Amino acid sequence: MRIAAAVFLLAGIVAAQERVDLSVVNRIKAEEFEHSKVMEHIEYLTDVYGPRLTASPEFKQAADWALKQLESYGLTNGHLEKWGPFGRSWTLQQYAVELLEPRYSLMNAAPLAWSRNTNGPIAGDVTLAPLAARSFDPAQAEKDLESYIAKYKGKLRGKIVMISSEARPTAGSENQPLIKRYTDVDLAGIAKAPEPVFHIPYTPGEPLKIPEDPMQRLEYMGGLPESVREQMREQTKDVADKRSQFFNDEGVLALLQNDTRAHDGLVFAEAAGSYEPAKAQAPPTFVITKEHYDRLLHLVRLKQPIRVQVSLHAEQSADAKDAYNIVAEIPGSSKPDEVVMLGAHFDSWNSGTGATDNGAGSAVMMEVVRLLKTLDLKMDRTVRIAMWSGEEQGLLGSRAYVKEHFGDPKTMKITSQHAKLSGYFNLDNGSGKIRGVYLQGNDSIRPLFESWLEPFRDLGVSTITIRNTGGTDHLSFDAVGLPGFQFIQDPLDYMTVTHHSNMDVSDHVLAGDLMQASAIIASVVYDAATRPEMLPRKPLPKPQPAAPAQASPKAATL
Ligand SMILES: [Zn+2]
Repeated sequence: MRIAAAVFLLAGIVAAQERVDLSVVNRIKAEEFEHSKVMEHIEYLTDVYGPRLTASPEFKQAADWALKQLESYGLTNGHLEKWGPFGRSWTLQQYAVELLEPRYSLMNAAPLAWSRNTNGPIAGDVTLAPLAARSFDPAQAEKDLESYIAKYKGKLRGKIVMISSEARPTAGSENQPLIKRYTDVDLAGIAKAPEPVFHIPYTPGEPLKIPEDPMQRLEYMGGLPESVREQMREQTKDVADKRSQFFNDEGVLALLQNDTRAHDGLVFAEAAGSYEPAKAQAPPTFVITKEHYDRLLHLVRLKQPIRVQVSLHAEQSADAKDAYNIVAEIPGSSKPDEVVMLGAHFDSWNSGTGATDNGAGSAVMMEVVRLLKTLDLKMDRTVRIAMWSGEEQGLLGSRAYVKEHFGDPKTMKITSQHAKLSGYFNLDNGSGKIRGVYLQGNDSIRPLFESWLEPFRDLGVSTITIRNTGGTDHLSFDAVGLPGFQFIQDPLDYMTVTHHSNMDVSDHVLAGDLMQASAIIASVVYDAATRPEMLPRKPLPKPQPAAPAQASPKAATL
């Protein structure tokens, strides 16, 4: 709906040719390609300080390091900006999952964040009680849980419970190469505007139609009204809380699960249940690599007794801790009250060190401001870097920041600073180099990006698409009508190997790709901060009061 409106209103406006200072582009490229510090950034963020779970002490240590770096580059007004309360802090100290019977084996596993501790090793008999496959539709997830409880109530006490059935390969995944760069054909597809979609009117009670494919799902979610997304987040949390409560009431010892992508030693580990102290904490929960989990399934099928020993110790707070965004500035010379923002989320999941998600984006954005300061480029507007926390729990840090500084998407009550933010540029799709940009439905910005990105065409940047992309922090800005953009990046092994996995470590970050991205974003930010006008905007969104609590929202837009 929003896309169609923007096209219609802006069709008559012809943008003037955007001026790009090629000598600045040249200096940025030379500095980045000869003296890059981006890999130093990534190694500190991952190998030294990672992982960086929101509200953990190691997040704070990494943030303190980043802030000191930014200050050493000459940025000012650097601070950790508190938001919250968020939830428990959770720092892993020790864990193990060991098969005891029929024979000893150390299993390749990782605990899910915010699991309860075991208080020492505990051994138990293993039973299979598989949950329904994860539904992204919270209403369906709730129905599935109700039938699960009806089936297993009273049968799981004192057991270690396997909650996944056989791993289902992701559709088509077995034929995909592990590492992929976009071909010209792929990019031509992305460049095409999506076919117009008839928007079925909102009808409470009907199910969402969420695509299985992860990239399609991102795009679909990006097109949903914020109120619908918020309601989905709340409903999903409620279902997870009910599930934890059920397992606690049953008295299970621990939960074991599998993941559709977790083979060859990979495990993908996010959260178990809630991080809020007031909610039921999930039992000790471990995800096990496919081959090791499948051995357990085979033993179940052969009706062999299985005993497993688990241990988990994480330092965790009893109360909710505040979380922080990391903010610093390069003051503008002639229009210091007008601001261009750039950012990336700084928090990560726990089983790797948060390298491609999103140490890479953070390392690049730190490099961008280093370039701008090192070259002492004069910019009219203030350039502000923000590195967010709580992104992995629902863009919490950036949403809190936008609400505090610019406006509330629910009421569309906006602040005086709303008029002063020119735009926001985000990087959070792994280590892959930049291939173009998503215009997020904003036609009027196309000529700007065409001019800004032209000097980087020979570095593989060719694609400007009207499409939306979702799943990360530019949405928080877009939700209040501020220009917010995420770049198109080569997928590499992000969705096949690293995203939220134990192999999200610095070896999977490609130096050349991060250097390319750093030079491009530095140039784009410089252009945005020096052009005479602020960035053109889409019409302001309408206020989005929360959807009715009991209604199952239906996706009306794509
Ligand atoms: Zn991310």
